[in-house]
Amino acid sequence: MSTSTRTGAKTTSQGGAAGLSSQGIGFAGKSARMAAVSAVTNYRPISEPLNFIDTPASMLFGSNVFNKQVMKTRLPKQVFKALCKTIESGEKLDPAIADVVASAMKDWAIEKGATHYAHVFFPLTGATAEKHDSFLAPDGDGGAIAEFTGKQLIQGEPDGSSFPTGGIRATFEARGYTIWDVTSPAYILENPNGTTLCIPTAFVSWTGEALDKKTPLLRSMQALNRQAQRVLKIFGATDGAFVSSTAGPEQEYFLVDRNFYFARPDLLTAGRTLFGAKPPKGQEFEDHYFGAIPERVLAFMLEVERELFKLGIPVKTRHNEVAPAQYEIAPIFESANLANDHQQLMMITLKRVAEKYGMACLTHEKPFAGINGSGKHLNWSLGSSTQGNLLDPGDTPHDNAQFLVFCAAVIRAVYKFQGVLRAVVATASNDHRLGANEAPPAIMSVFLGDQLTDVFEQIKKGGANSSLKKSTLEVGVDVLPPLPKDAGDRNRTSPFAFTGNRFEFRAVGANQSIAGPLVAMNTIVAESLDYCATKLEKATGGETAKLNAAVQSLLTEIATECSPVIFNGDGYSEAWHKEAEKRGLLNLKTSVDALPVLKDKKVEELFAKYNVLTPRELESRYEIYLEQYCKTVYSEANLSLEMAKTMIFPAAIRYQNELASTCANLKLVGYEFDTDTLDRITELVKSLQDSISVLQMAINKAPHDSAHVAAAYCASDVLPSMTMVRKYADELECWVADDLWPLPTYQEMLFIK
Ligand code: ADP
Ligand code: MG
Repeated sequence: MSTSTRTGAKTTSQGGAAGLSSQGIGFAGKSARMAAVSAVTNYRPISEPLNFIDTPASMLFGSNVFNKQVMKTRLPKQVFKALCKTIESGEKLDPAIADVVASAMKDWAIEKGATHYAHVFFPLTGATAEKHDSFLAPDGDGGAIAEFTGKQLIQGEPDGSSFPTGGIRATFEARGYTIWDVTSPAYILENPNGTTLCIPTAFVSWTGEALDKKTPLLRSMQALNRQAQRVLKIFGATDGAFVSSTAGPEQEYFLVDRNFYFARPDLLTAGRTLFGAKPPKGQEFEDHYFGAIPERVLAFMLEVERELFKLGIPVKTRHNEVAPAQYEIAPIFESANLANDHQQLMMITLKRVAEKYGMACLTHEKPFAGINGSGKHLNWSLGSSTQGNLLDPGDTPHDNAQFLVFCAAVIRAVYKFQGVLRAVVATASNDHRLGANEAPPAIMSVFLGDQLTDVFEQIKKGGANSSLKKSTLEVGVDVLPPLPKDAGDRNRTSPFAFTGNRFEFRAVGANQSIAGPLVAMNTIVAESLDYCATKLEKATGGETAKLNAAVQSLLTEIATECSPVIFNGDGYSEAWHKEAEKRGLLNLKTSVDALPVLKDKKVEELFAKYNVLTPRELESRYEIYLEQYCKTVYSEANLSLEMAKTMIFPAAIRYQNELASTCANLKLVGYEFDTDTLDRITELVKSLQDSISVLQMAINKAPHDSAHVAAAYCASDVLPSMTMVRKYADELECWVADDLWPLPTYQEMLFIK
């Protein structure tokens, strides 16, 4: 094996091993380390500290938002009232008020320093898009005035031909409209050079089809409200207060020093590392989770929070997460549409502020192999201003019939449409996380906890008469106050867990828009509530005396039919995978398995029936998501190739050359040199080279059939070929001299902070 190398070594030594210089070699990797160390050690606070004495919370929170308070003082009473009706009760917007609102909005924005306005929308890429226009308009006499009309507020027309449409619209019919969403308030976006008035909008084609994530979200909220009202009416609540879905997304993310970020083409382009050997210490000590937050990171968090407060985003929680360099931020829940807009703003703010602090914020689902990835636990419930939270069980859930019906409706929805929930979290990046013993498995099940499971078990047997009681938590230390013990424990491994007064959908990826998952949950629960309402209406015929029996029989039926989806055990275990299969639950392991659910006839009917997505709109999403999957995989594959060929392979052969020269030189002066390391490097170099050819071939042979065939090929051929290249490269990283290695290592990126 090593003979040829030895021969080669002779040539090299004759060619002059002395000429081998390490100057400039591995420059990117090492200088990044030095720069990062310097950035960390020289970090000084860059913003004035925030305190609630100089800046009272009430002055700070929402100070950049055209919210109700501002509208109340700036709009004529009638206009204000009309707006509130639309915002709170979902009533039709009267377009006649637009001019008045626009004018007040413009004055307010200009006082806040705005020179421009922007319609902000959420195309199907999952990102946020904005088109900026100046307030400036020529006055016809060579001068200019600041202008903003009702029409400009209500409607924009960005040339959206470069956004994915999945065949809904050809480029020659590129018209797309943005439409003012009154239910999400306008806000001011700050920049050191000026500010912009931002107006949240929906984005549709000129035929009215949804080209974005907001339109279906609003439609699904409408559908959920309609069906929830029917159920509430049966229970005697006829006030009609809008029932909104509520969402509280917990965002996980990583922070790395920006010097490392720029020295890693993979982080820069793909958002994740495509190479990198496991560091000697990873997360096994579990010492990062909830640990003390490093000073620069905490300073960053404080500034993020201040910026979010100004935008009226109610951030509440911050802490270290499980993996080194991983953190979490969570807001207080809001109405789903607002929570979605705020979530998008939060991701943008995290990234922008990180830059200012010399760091990069990574929201990719799996930036580093071998340690935990990032999710976005999506807490979801529904409620209204008069009813409060409809998933609040109270202390005695067994006799809270209304709660039980809503809860059963959710369980039924998950059971009936497991595939839909799986499909809306299917992305190339989330595939690295789901089912990897750190995130929920790809099997969708519901965790109910002891108390509710007990209630539903009783219901199955004919009727529930009791609820497990809250007891007192005994700690055995007199100075600690006694705590009421929750009636049920939590479960971290379940993809869909009841957590006291809401469900938490844990399979959502950190980089995803939450709109898709929200649309799915709202729609499948609307379908279930429709089912429940129809059954109850039939059984009671409007007679309250018959209600109890009707509810009982409905609940027993649902508890019996849908019980396979309830699982309180360890979702990571092998045993559960077997058990789930026996129960007939779906296990759609990859995006390629999951996305075709969107083609299912029943799913098409579901979205069409509740006017959330037409078959064409749904089909377009299926096409776009598959296309995005392929694009992600191919761009990563090409990047793997490039990095392997131009960074890793050269570093490896330089080290190989250095070893070979040492060996040859020693021989010349009469020493023996053990060639074990040289042999191993040589083997690895050969394997790396071969794996590069295989990957190149896999890319070249890409099929151009249907989107699904193309995606399946990515999963079966391209991804495994990339993994092989990585395997040899990572092993080489463990051998090659540190000063020659061209990339910042995991050790550096995760621990220099
Ligand atoms: P944990 O880490 O224990 O899951 P967090 O405090 O990090 O809890 O996050 C809980 C999230 O759930 C918060 O965003 C919170 O606002 C949200 N939440 C609480 N009640 C509801 C509700 N009724 N509807 C939606 N989200 C809710
Ligand atoms: Mg949390």
